[in-house]
Amino acid sequence: MKATQTRKTIPGKSSIRRPIVVAGPCSAESPEQLMKTATILAATGHVDYFRAGIWKPRTAPGSFEGMGTQALRWLQQVSQTTGLKTATEVASVRHVEEALKHNLDMLWIGARTVSNPFLVQDIADTLQGTGVRVMVKNPMAPDPDLWSGSIERFKKAGLKEICAIHRGFSYWTKSLFRNQPWWHIPMMLKERMPDVPVLCDPSHITGDHRLVPMVAHRGLEMGMDGLMVEVHPQPAKALSDASQQLTPVAFVRLIKQLFGENPGEDKAASNILEELRAEVDVMDDLLIWALTNRMKLSGEIAGVKTTHNMKPLQPERWKQVISKVLTKGREAGLRRGFIEKLFDDIHHESLSVQQPSNIRPQNNSGIHPTFAI
Ligand code: PEP
Ligand code: MN
Repeated sequence: MKATQTRKTIPGKSSIRRPIVVAGPCSAESPEQLMKTATILAATGHVDYFRAGIWKPRTAPGSFEGMGTQALRWLQQVSQTTGLKTATEVASVRHVEEALKHNLDMLWIGARTVSNPFLVQDIADTLQGTGVRVMVKNPMAPDPDLWSGSIERFKKAGLKEICAIHRGFSYWTKSLFRNQPWWHIPMMLKERMPDVPVLCDPSHITGDHRLVPMVAHRGLEMGMDGLMVEVHPQPAKALSDASQQLTPVAFVRLIKQLFGENPGEDKAASNILEELRAEVDVMDDLLIWALTNRMKLSGEIAGVKTTHNMKPLQPERWKQVISKVLTKGREAGLRRGFIEKLFDDIHHESLSVQQPSNIRPQNNSGIHPTFAI
């Protein structure tokens, strides 16, 4: 997907290439809803593709599953009336065939589908020779190989206009974001496949319309090649993803902030700070999780040692541990003194967990000691 026009993208950075913008509702709900949204988006002059989901992959059965094939005709009308190119999500060979019959300009593979190589291959085979444009979202899990592998399948099917969409990754505990941005993964993809533009989808990353501008700014700052943003004329009444869709007015405001004459630099900086803090919170969760599980393992080791009359402190083992973490720390660019202090504390805590009063001897019942109270 090549953007021809050039213009300034973000404050302080002269841009080489105009970012690609995909916008539209999460789901097509009615011809009126689509036309109303598309008319406003077309008038901004900044939207390259109008998106609307027609077949919706939902977590729970019984949720709104999309308007199906009839909505493809609505998208065709949008294209004829506004001149916008159209895009929808496909998750099966049947979807692809239907979408091709209705001359859609671009098809995207959703985060759930992209995790299934059989399905991705079937879709790629069906698209072979069509020259249609394809966008490949990242899989739910932070697995760069699965993502690049899916893109590879479309390349091998001879498709030339492919881009990737960074929509964040599922995470096991709730944080500010619906899906974690973990920017290093899209950056890794860009390094691996420099010919594939990567767009940022701040709507699915945040799950919250209030945070969408902040992550849209950050995505462009991080070098993403464009945006996919959900826009709905009445987000509160949307049949899917109600909390994360922008009103057309908010979208126009965002576009002005991003691409206007005087983008608000100060605001962008404080927004970026807020996002970085949210990422730090997630890392702190991970640290607590790792420490908790490490101490649980120490407790289990203590059980084994007690059962077999071994001493809690085994200096040889500790030497191995400290030497390994110091090497890893050095490779990661962490200060030696910091790692020594941190692991010294961890070691002391492990030993105190291994004190006789804290130990449950290993049971021989085959039951995990943690559950053998
Ligand atoms: C969508 O774009 O509306 C969608 C369902 O996205 P994802 O596959 O990223 O969840
Ligand atoms: Mn959505």
